[in-house]
Amino acid sequence: MQPLRGTKDILPYEIKIWKQIRNIANNILEIHNYNEIQTPLLEDTELFQKSIGNYTDIINKEMYNFNDKKKRKITLRPEGTTSVARAFISNKLYLNHKINKLWYLGPMFRYERPQKGRQRQFNQLGIECLGSSIPISDVEVIRLAIKILEALKYKEYKLEINSIGTCKERKEYKIALTTYLSKYKHNFNINLNKQINTNPLRVLDNKDLKIKEILIYAPKLKNYLDNISLNHFNEVCKNLKYLDIPYIINDNLVRGLDYYNYTAFEIKTKELHNQNTICGGGRYDKLIENLGGPNTPSVGWAMGIERLIIIKKNFFNKKKQTNIIYIIIQNNNNYYIIWDIITKLEIYKIKFELNLSNNNLLKQIKKANKIKKKICFILGTDEIYNKYITIKWLDTSTQQKIYLCELDKFLKYLKYNILI
Ligand code: ATP
Ligand code: MG
Repeated sequence: MQPLRGTKDILPYEIKIWKQIRNIANNILEIHNYNEIQTPLLEDTELFQKSIGNYTDIINKEMYNFNDKKKRKITLRPEGTTSVARAFISNKLYLNHKINKLWYLGPMFRYERPQKGRQRQFNQLGIECLGSSIPISDVEVIRLAIKILEALKYKEYKLEINSIGTCKERKEYKIALTTYLSKYKHNFNINLNKQINTNPLRVLDNKDLKIKEILIYAPKLKNYLDNISLNHFNEVCKNLKYLDIPYIINDNLVRGLDYYNYTAFEIKTKELHNQNTICGGGRYDKLIENLGGPNTPSVGWAMGIERLIIIKKNFFNKKKQTNIIYIIIQNNNNYYIIWDIITKLEIYKIKFELNLSNNNLLKQIKKANKIKKKICFILGTDEIYNKYITIKWLDTSTQQKIYLCELDKFLKYLKYNILI
């Protein structure tokens, strides 16, 4: 049996990596007073239709939609921002704080062609700063993405940034772009011709070289932006310069979701070929209002955890295995003192593994040797009768007796001298 196409099991050894990423993100975000939020994986289909935009890839091709038993239209969430915006409105988070800084980490679902760095169930770490319109908030979120990448020892990344203006500015630009692209209709396939009429901005990030060439002389979005948009963008850039965060202005960066305005950005890596974007985000001032909430200008980003892990697998998996106590017990006795010993190990927070095999003592010791444990606690008939533990040091093959009345002292010694 295999998992569904485009889905993966995350095995115990990988969970260690996930925990590291979560801890690093949590520590950095906590200092900036970003609080974790978890939203349901299931949402009303209409929520995403309202927010993401009808002519986007997500809405057209990638959503996992189904009807539940009461024929309600349900969607497995394809991204986090819309759900966080919905939660902000449903729970009236705006009543307590004017500005809400939130983060999440969890699975998203998109029906895409699975390949390296592209799954149907994948995980995103995301942050959303809700309620501020000033450029510092754009810079704060971008800086946090960079901080997290740097804490994970990423060096080979590239920040691309653009201003996509307001909805009104884009409307005028779209007309100009469509007019320009229509002149080259005969060079395009049916899908692209359709895109020119429905969502011409998406043509801008087309990877085809011939289309890229045509785009060189296409009208530029920045020429359609008014002073407010341009000032906002310049402020963001000036702050990035002050912070020494290198960036490239990419005029053709538009992002796949309709709800963005002003700042749009992506962080790319040179290490993955097609799936080279690890983080994408931007400002979305009207999303919450469009979903029925109060006017709440916002900005945020999402990072693909699987892509992070592919690039940095060497950084993650070299963690040393912690020493653990291996407990061996004879199962034909009045062995209940084992629970007293375990309770003490818990008190001292010493990790242990209880052998549950029902094999004889010798076989269990052999097993401990085979899996390269260092310290065994052996509880055989004599030990249980006389209330002591035989401690076997497997690396030196030496043994010692520790009576239960001395156990506290011995565990302290282990914890602070041996297991550190
Ligand atoms: P792409 O252009 O690669 O499809 P996107 O623009 O659709 O990315 P976003 O919606 O901005 O991606 O999501 C943010 C991040 O989530 C991406 O930069 C990527 O790291 C990750 N991501 C998106 N889709 C997938 C997927 N199907 N599998 C794994 N990671 C993904
Ligand atoms: Mg995509």
